[in-house]
Amino acid sequence: MASFLSSVPPSDVGDSAPGPLRVLIVDDDADALAVLGEALTVLGHPFVTAQDGAEAWAHQCREPSQVILSDWSMPNMSGVDLCRLVRANSESEYVYFVLTTAYGDKQHFLEGMRAGADDYLTKPVVIDELEARLLSATRVVSMQRALSRRNAALARQGDITFEAARVDTLTQSANRLRLGEDLDVIEARASRYGHRFCAALCDIDWFKQYNDAHGHLAGDAALRLVASEIRRTLRQADMLYRYGGEEFLVILPEQTLEAALRVMERVRSAVEALSIAHPACEGGVLTISVGVASLTDAGGDRAEWLGRADAALYRAKGSGRNRVDVDLPVPLVTPGGPASSSSEVV
Ligand code: GH3
Ligand code: MG
Ligand code: MG
Repeated sequence: MASFLSSVPPSDVGDSAPGPLRVLIVDDDADALAVLGEALTVLGHPFVTAQDGAEAWAHQCREPSQVILSDWSMPNMSGVDLCRLVRANSESEYVYFVLTTAYGDKQHFLEGMRAGADDYLTKPVVIDELEARLLSATRVVSMQRALSRRNAALARQGDITFEAARVDTLTQSANRLRLGEDLDVIEARASRYGHRFCAALCDIDWFKQYNDAHGHLAGDAALRLVASEIRRTLRQADMLYRYGGEEFLVILPEQTLEAALRVMERVRSAVEALSIAHPACEGGVLTISVGVASLTDAGGDRAEWLGRADAALYRAKGSGRNRVDVDLPVPLVTPGGPASSSSEVV
């Protein structure tokens, strides 16, 4: 077959020339492959070849090309079927698909476009026309790549925003929004699989007086310190939430009430050991009171569970503060219903 390269000079490869594209040429005619290969070499695009749709698809799966120049009629798999296959598996980088065929009629052109082809080249291929298709391919491929990058950045930003919305900015603990979501999961795990959870409500003692004595900014700093000390003392699997102003909630998965009590006693003592000066507290340093309750022991819902932790905290406050108290076992049926709580529940 005569090369068209002698009859049509390659166009100027100046500033507007496309960058090299990875091209796959598919044709069962060896001469046609050679001619297109020669043209691509002149235009500066690296390429690979395949002799039918099936071989091309295998190639594309191994090492995807950005542009496919495919003949229409081929044994095993036609160009139009290859195009459908490429479009049906389009999760990765966009593939610019050009059908090359001797058919010049409108009907074939439409059928090719309906199958997902981007363009159409009539044989014998003229280099100017091929270059025009590749310029268009460069635009589409780079636009699609920029879009993918932007989508990935947006997705990352979305993840960051999602996380940020669930963190308390002052103490970097999880916030009430996260707690509400986690409690959905916890309730389901406890009721369906019998998993055990303990909740511990921690409240800073006489904190209003701390603010009054040292100012609100010093109060904020103390809150941050207390939160970080609680987190440091807990196990990795335990979750810390800022529950209210100077109240923190700890959820301890897979812990008996006795074990949770021991952990929270360690937490209480660690906060005391921070030795943050606070004359209103008995020992002259800032302390916390803690109320602990187990979810599965009473088999209740979140309101009842956290209500019991709150009742235990109330008792810890009433019996002198700087101590850990535990929810007393609740009889299954009480005349007044389950223990009422003053705590706001998520
Ligand atoms: P109790 O031992 O009974 O818990 O006494 P308390 O003073 O800690 O309790 P109270 O509920 O009377 O006061 C809580 C104080 O916590 C009042 C409020 O100003 C302070 N507080 C709540 N949130 C913040 C915060 O984000 N920063 C600061 N600095 N203070 C806060
Ligand atoms: Mg409080
Ligand atoms: Mg308090």
